[in-house]
Amino acid sequence: MRIGVPREVLEGEARVAITPESAVQLQKLGHSCLIEAGAGARAGFADADYAAAGVEVVKTAAALWKGSDIVAKVRQPNDTELKRLQEGQTLISFFGPVGNDAAMERARKSGASVIAMEMIPRISRAQKMDALSSMANIAGYRAVIEAGNNFGRFFTGQITAAGKVPPARVLVIGAGVAGLAAIGTSTSLGAVTLAFDVRPEVAEQVESMGAEFVYLDFSEDAQDGAATGGYASVSSPEFREAQLAKFRELAPDIDIVITTALIPNREAPELWTEDMVKAMKSGSVIVDLAAEKGGNCKLTVKDEKIVTENGVTIVGYTDFPSRMAAQASSLYATNIRHLLSDLTPEKDGEVRHDMEDDVIRGATIVHKGEITYPPPPPKVQ
Ligand code: NAD
Repeated sequence: MRIGVPREVLEGEARVAITPESAVQLQKLGHSCLIEAGAGARAGFADADYAAAGVEVVKTAAALWKGSDIVAKVRQPNDTELKRLQEGQTLISFFGPVGNDAAMERARKSGASVIAMEMIPRISRAQKMDALSSMANIAGYRAVIEAGNNFGRFFTGQITAAGKVPPARVLVIGAGVAGLAAIGTSTSLGAVTLAFDVRPEVAEQVESMGAEFVYLDFSEDAQDGAATGGYASVSSPEFREAQLAKFRELAPDIDIVITTALIPNREAPELWTEDMVKAMKSGSVIVDLAAEKGGNCKLTVKDEKIVTENGVTIVGYTDFPSRMAAQASSLYATNIRHLLSDLTPEKDGEVRHDMEDDVIRGATIVHKGEITYPPPPPKVQ
């Protein structure tokens, strides 16, 4: 099959779906690779690097889409890209299927198949293709680096001839993939790190990373009620009040807050209120990784960095993986390569789109003229 990778069209998006290294692996599966000229430039991969890895560099997006059996990209396709889908083609990309019926219908009408990267089931076998996790890991790391960049002090405590410096105090709210990456980065930089999640089962993991889990004065049964199947659900009003009371108590002594709390397919819960921001010291920083879904902090402005009247910086960027485009592209390209490896079991360049395979079925949202979203739950956990 001919696997084509276009340049990302969303402004500011610097990632690319294959790297020269992953292209070599894809060719070993019997595929040939094409890339639109300049597609890897913003991630540090030149056309010449792709050409040296045996990739055909194609001048225009139109030619790329026309000449590809499989198109692999990062961001969900825009109108122009949806128009370019052809009968029998397969698109592999983030797609945002929730509430995006019109785009799925357009893809269905085109006769193409769509594999949505955010729909890869989160089961052990599929971890190597789990782009939500690989990108969340980067976002968590980068959130701490971004916080440090806006924080005028050290993370680690120091005793120097010029004076004693206390360590920064960092609070991470939400200890999923991004939160755990943030905790690991923060502790490795030497900050005193606190973390909270509605799922008490993550406490051990948090503590094993050298951070302190923030417990609430609340019965465990009720705390358990806020989590189902490994994901958070909406907390009870009593639980939420206990949580906010705890955060209010912590706010004056916290230098950096990294918020990552999300509930699948919902707006982000508001957990860091205006009065908590006001209670923070001047020079403190909040990085809100939930900004895309409305933000965990009341004052977050999506895609912007603001400074409040009391001197608190609030970062609401939604493109953290793209800000580390070389690393993000390498990991995403590996996720794509593993998916294509499963789609090419005989390594003969022929794709077998096996709808009996839990992972392939779960991620396929359009196939053979039908919308196949939402998928049935996976049989194997
Ligand atoms: P996510 O991005 O959906 O949410 C981030 C975190 O926010 C979660 O830990 C959630 O519990 C927390 N949260 C939600 N509401 C909150 C609130 N009010 N206060 C504090 N925290 C709140 O989560 P994710 O990173 O996608 O991971 C979610 C689950 O999926 C975890 O159980 C994780 O272990 C699991 N997972 C499994 C696999 C796999 O098996 N392949 C891969 C990745 C993640």
